[in-house]
Amino acid sequence: MPKYKLEYIWLDGYEPVANLRSKTLVKEFTSFPKLKDLPNWGFDGSSTRQAEGKSSDCVLKPVSVYPDATRQNGVLVMCEVLMPDLTPHVSNSRATILDDSGAWFGFEQEYFLYQNGVPLGFPEGGGFPFPQGKYYTGVGYDAVGDIARQIVEEHLDLCLEAGINHEGINAEVAKGQWEFQIFGKGSRTAADQVWVARYILSRLCEQYQVEVNWHCKPLGLDVDWNGSGMHSNFSTTHMREVGGKDYFEALMAAFDKHKNEHIAVYGPDNHLRLTGLHETQSIDKFNYGIANRGASIRVPHSFVNNDYKGYLEDRRPNSQGDPYKIASRILQTIATVPLKGSAPKAKKK
Ligand code: ADP
Ligand code: MN
Ligand code: MN
Ligand code: MN
Repeated sequence: MPKYKLEYIWLDGYEPVANLRSKTLVKEFTSFPKLKDLPNWGFDGSSTRQAEGKSSDCVLKPVSVYPDATRQNGVLVMCEVLMPDLTPHVSNSRATILDDSGAWFGFEQEYFLYQNGVPLGFPEGGGFPFPQGKYYTGVGYDAVGDIARQIVEEHLDLCLEAGINHEGINAEVAKGQWEFQIFGKGSRTAADQVWVARYILSRLCEQYQVEVNWHCKPLGLDVDWNGSGMHSNFSTTHMREVGGKDYFEALMAAFDKHKNEHIAVYGPDNHLRLTGLHETQSIDKFNYGIANRGASIRVPHSFVNNDYKGYLEDRRPNSQGDPYKIASRILQTIATVPLKGSAPKAKKK
């Protein structure tokens, strides 16, 4: 029987941003293992801010499985962290997501590639490259440099081979800044895949001596360089199939009411990014707008044209946000809005 290298991946207990951790379990299987074949495992939580030294065992529970093209018989195993009694650990944000197979999420993950403390393509001794303008979706050495595209392409291939549902990639507005988009059906699918895609990218960059900088405003407020977001596109069965202006307005009222709870889980330091400039709304305001990239929530033209049915884009989450917490909060807020009695009727046609 072949020996498989199972890379168990989990989120540690660091605040405000969890780090990815992983370790390898070697185990024999007759063929590529399925989720149900994978055992729970454990780790020392006192080294990851998840337990005290005296009683430090935490449990790893596999929740999704992906082929790892970088290793022979390699398997990436995304895990939740549980307490020894198998209840969710307090750091386990995935466990807070409501079950909803009809919920769909699309995350647009932006990030910077850094080398020697500056974005790829920035002069090493200080100073700046050409101002922003030609980098977004650009081509050529002046726009994207040399190794960035190689890393981005390798990352895309590794993710596709893992079965991660990338929908696209693009060079972003700042030099050294990139984006990938991941879409998934089910309330946890896309969020699991974003974490695994982050893992694959960080690991890939090791050999290039490049670090992924996930911070939402790595160059700070004082310069005219974009920050990084993680726009979160979402829809539920009701939003896609029933919709309507009344429901939409009730939904937006709920998002307004809970705006502080949303911002609290949309990633740290977001006040540096949500300034009202650079295609953002201010952090303390909530608004929505049709095709408005300066709004908290952008309503696609297709949504309005289709009788307020479809998906919405929450533009506030940042690049360092935890997609589990983001998905969890969005579904909690949606759940506060009653579905009108007319819904089942409209559904049938
Ligand atoms: P933009 O940069 O213009 O905001 P992107 O193409 O980067 O647009 O991202 C839009 C994302 O919306 C898509 O990648 C997809 O993941 C997501 N999306 C599309 N349809 C739906 C839907 N019905 N529900 C949830 N997300 C969706
Ligand atoms: Mn995008
Ligand atoms: Mn973008
Ligand atoms: Mn977007």
